[in-house]
Amino acid sequence: MNIITQFLNFVYQKVIKKSSKTKDTGPERAYERLLKKQGLRMNKDYFKQCPVGRCHVDFYIKPWNTLVEVNGCYPHCCKKCGFNTESYGIPAKQKRLQDFRRMLFLQSQGYEVKVVWQHDLFKKKTQHQGGK
Ligand SMILES: [Zn+2]
Repeated sequence: MNIITQFLNFVYQKVIKKSSKTKDTGPERAYERLLKKQGLRMNKDYFKQCPVGRCHVDFYIKPWNTLVEVNGCYPHCCKKCGFNTESYGIPAKQKRLQDFRRMLFLQSQGYEVKVVWQHDLFKKKTQHQGGK
């Protein structure tokens, strides 16, 4: 009985660990790696999904008093990557306006606001790998 419980607990933790790992992928994860490289610590120097008013911002970096939005190229209709029409059914113009308003709101709360684009993160990553 005890062994079974232990086993189930083990399986459960494996599954939870795995699912939280897969959930936390993509550009946010790549950006977080950059923060860690600079010696910043989670929940001490930087915070994830930080609530500001009605918004949840990807990162808040305390020593810089900076909010960082990590924008995926498709979801945020990146011009540079040619996503000029829509994102999940929202027209690109409307989406960009939403992002712009959000940015103004966050700035009005007294923070520095920085937008990091997915294409910049992955460009940096490949450059880094190439340099090795
Ligand atoms: Zn892009």
